[in-house]
Amino acid sequence: MTNTSNVVQLSATQMAEELRNGEVSSRELVDAHLDVIEQAEPSIHAFLQIAGEQAREQADAFDALSADDKQALPELAGVPIAIKDMIVTKGIETTAASKILQGWIPPYDATVIERLKAAHMPILGKTNLDEFAQGSSTEHSAYGPTRNPWDTARVPGGSGGGSASAVAAFEAPLALGTDTGGSIRQPGALTGTVGVKPTYGGVSRYGAIAMASSLDQIGPVTRTVLDSALLQEIIGGHDPKDSTSIPAPARPMAAAAREGATRDLKGMKVGLIKEIGGEGFQPGVEARFREAVAQLEAMGAEVVEVSCPHFPYALGAYYIIMPSEVSSNLARYDGMRYGLRVMPPAGVPQTAANMMAYTREAGFGDEVKRRIILGTYALSAGYYDAWYGSAQKVRTLIIEDFNRAFEQVDVLVSPTSPSTAFKFGEKMDDPMSMYMNDIATIPANLAGVPALSIPAGLSDDGLPTGIQFIAPQQRDEVMYKPAAALEAALEEQWHGPIWQSLNTPWLEGLGA
Ligand code: GLN
Repeated sequence: MTNTSNVVQLSATQMAEELRNGEVSSRELVDAHLDVIEQAEPSIHAFLQIAGEQAREQADAFDALSADDKQALPELAGVPIAIKDMIVTKGIETTAASKILQGWIPPYDATVIERLKAAHMPILGKTNLDEFAQGSSTEHSAYGPTRNPWDTARVPGGSGGGSASAVAAFEAPLALGTDTGGSIRQPGALTGTVGVKPTYGGVSRYGAIAMASSLDQIGPVTRTVLDSALLQEIIGGHDPKDSTSIPAPARPMAAAAREGATRDLKGMKVGLIKEIGGEGFQPGVEARFREAVAQLEAMGAEVVEVSCPHFPYALGAYYIIMPSEVSSNLARYDGMRYGLRVMPPAGVPQTAANMMAYTREAGFGDEVKRRIILGTYALSAGYYDAWYGSAQKVRTLIIEDFNRAFEQVDVLVSPTSPSTAFKFGEKMDDPMSMYMNDIATIPANLAGVPALSIPAGLSDDGLPTGIQFIAPQQRDEVMYKPAAALEAALEEQWHGPIWQSLNTPWLEGLGA
């Protein structure tokens, strides 16, 4: 296969198969995606950095391997990938979409990047995000927003809007994101892609720029469930460089996804979370969700309602715990060690403290400053018990809600996001309405349990919706099976994968 617009629309697993059959080379895959990136970027802006030269070298290195050496590599070997610019990459500028890190070229690779390189997966570039992964629309990037390929007047969600749009627009078959409160799953829902937040500790955070360390996880962004499973197996498993990494190998997720594709869910108990949905949820989102649940039942799953009574407090607890950790983690950007340094103007004492103040004033955007101030306040003496202490108690209650729920069912489901993609500017003046986007995704981060989002079809407005599956801790494979089953059932219902409905003017004219 040589036609660019055809080859880029395959799943990563299909690309890998063509690689094995000798129908395409890794170099051709990289070149095809770089062509699409060139055509798409003026309207999408998913990338902050394009690493064409490095990617071509990595592809050539894979193509030069012997058949036996290729055979020994993971299934997705040779398939290119895009990386959220929240993950450090040796030799490629890494900014977290902040001015304060502009020009910083990391001297080392994150563990996930080392593993991708060991698997010979070429890195196409770094994708856009809300500054330091703080936001739900990618509008808080210091380098301008990413647009949603389904409607370029709308946001792709956030913070990982760059990775989601890149995969949705066929600029990359795979991407990595980071998810602290939903930044992989919510953009997945808004762009019609699959997004996974693994169990906390299941994927190394070494080299992931810290936002809120007790919540952050790196995970896959793909177009199919099986692609995510295969990718998570590559990046997952124990890493001695991350003290919170679970000392166990990655779970058998690809096998679970392949089993799910047979569409037999007999014996599986699915719980509908009573507290997620209703008021504030778009009718089209709820309708697609209910239809998806009916499909799960039709495949043999038993569906029951489950109550998680403390979930209504999750958002409030998150917006205390997360900014507290942000205020501590972002203290390292002080003008001394990385990136930007702004000296005080003439007449102002040239002290270290003043240099830090001027650097942070110039280097951080409004949303980041808001969270640093909020977190510093929540942690301050006299307020600690009232705010941070209470939020941690709520966190424990949410963990107990999950424990009780998983005594009753195997897997939980909910809509991923209350609405489809919204317009630029719609929520920028009202942080609360922006924060409400994460109402369904945050409980999983607070409890450390794995969760993923897959497309649930188009809403009445013609835009993608998402359904979320949540599994017990360290049982990531449990959510992959029903997700893959539903993906197959919905593909039949909608006469093909969701991206067949996407208009792709940037692919026109990309020929042989
Ligand atoms: N949108 C959420 C926030 O603004 C989640 C961010 C994330 O997962 N990185 O905090």
